[in-house]
Amino acid sequence: MSIFDVRHQDRAHRIIQRALASRRMPHAYLFAGPEGVGREMLAVRLAHLLLCPSPVEVDWPTAMEKDAVTDVRPSAACGQCADCRLLAAGTHPDLAVIHRQLNRQHPDALIRRQKALFLGVDVIRHFLIDRIGTRPARGRAKVFIIREAERLNDAAQNALLKSLEEPPPGTTLILITASLDQMLPTTRSRCQLVPFVALPAPFVAEQASRLRSETAADEVRYAAHHADGSLGGALRYIDDSLFAMKREWGKQLAILARPPAGWSAHALAGPFQEDAGRLAKSFAQRDPDVSDTDARREGARTLLAVLADFFRDALATASACQAERVNADQGDVIDALAGWGQPKLGDAIRQLAQAESWLDRNAHVELTLETLFIRLARLAPRPQPGRARAL
Ligand SMILES: [Zn+2]
Repeated sequence: MSIFDVRHQDRAHRIIQRALASRRMPHAYLFAGPEGVGREMLAVRLAHLLLCPSPVEVDWPTAMEKDAVTDVRPSAACGQCADCRLLAAGTHPDLAVIHRQLNRQHPDALIRRQKALFLGVDVIRHFLIDRIGTRPARGRAKVFIIREAERLNDAAQNALLKSLEEPPPGTTLILITASLDQMLPTTRSRCQLVPFVALPAPFVAEQASRLRSETAADEVRYAAHHADGSLGGALRYIDDSLFAMKREWGKQLAILARPPAGWSAHALAGPFQEDAGRLAKSFAQRDPDVSDTDARREGARTLLAVLADFFRDALATASACQAERVNADQGDVIDALAGWGQPKLGDAIRQLAQAESWLDRNAHVELTLETLFIRLARLAPRPQPGRARAL
């Protein structure tokens, strides 16, 4: 297990290795970037390195060799010693991962019963501030990793300031955040920022197919496309069977593209809303502390993103643009939609964008989707008696 197992985050590696080589390690790091790109994996690897008493010199990965920091010899945990074995087993006493669900282990019953929407001051006090002053159990160092630091409320961030500024010797805090603007300026200024970037889609697809080896190649490719460079996101889409869902949505769009006789626009929204509800449910199952509204919004957002791809594919076809189709597996649907012509397709894409912006502004989820489908149905051509039903 190497620190460089975390791939495509060259800048993060350079910042960390340069600091290690300079022997002026920051006390606090802020790992910022999208979810599912290796932030926590690198935080844990760095913790291993800091807690291992006999780190070893390693080579830069080939992809990073040509970089200007070749004067720095990178180091990594040895992977052999007693500390490394405890770390590998996840039982090292000097590494603590702080997360919002820790409230369930808090001594105060009232705090245990709360929904962990935020990473509150009580969790931070009990699991970090009260423990940071004690000596490391194994004598070398102590590392606290704070997951979802964007969920620290202002009180919790303020309570953390002293620990961030002047932790006891040998103590390192690593805050992981997906949203830098949720961090107070006082928090940011006390941490070394380590930026993380979205992963390349081919790498996401390659890793996703390794981790979900039973999944068909076109399903993996589709999940990787929708995940915006997040391996975690791609795996979620695979686990939620988004591909099977979008195949069904595609069939509904084919009907919308060329409505058969007797087609009623009122029936359009139903199947989409049911599936968006299903996505919301799995979102809520993964995070029981999420609010119902947030889960439903997340389901609706995924639906909108998938629909937008169908219309963009169709627009590219209608404008004779040679772009690769996201929905190449449903070429008949794309061709049928392309028949709407550029102005209508542009309009449909605008309607989808507007629905998304309503969701961003906390509009009612079901109402937003209903409005969207009424407007999409208005764009559809009149039902034609001669048209075949099945496409
Ligand atoms: Zn070691």
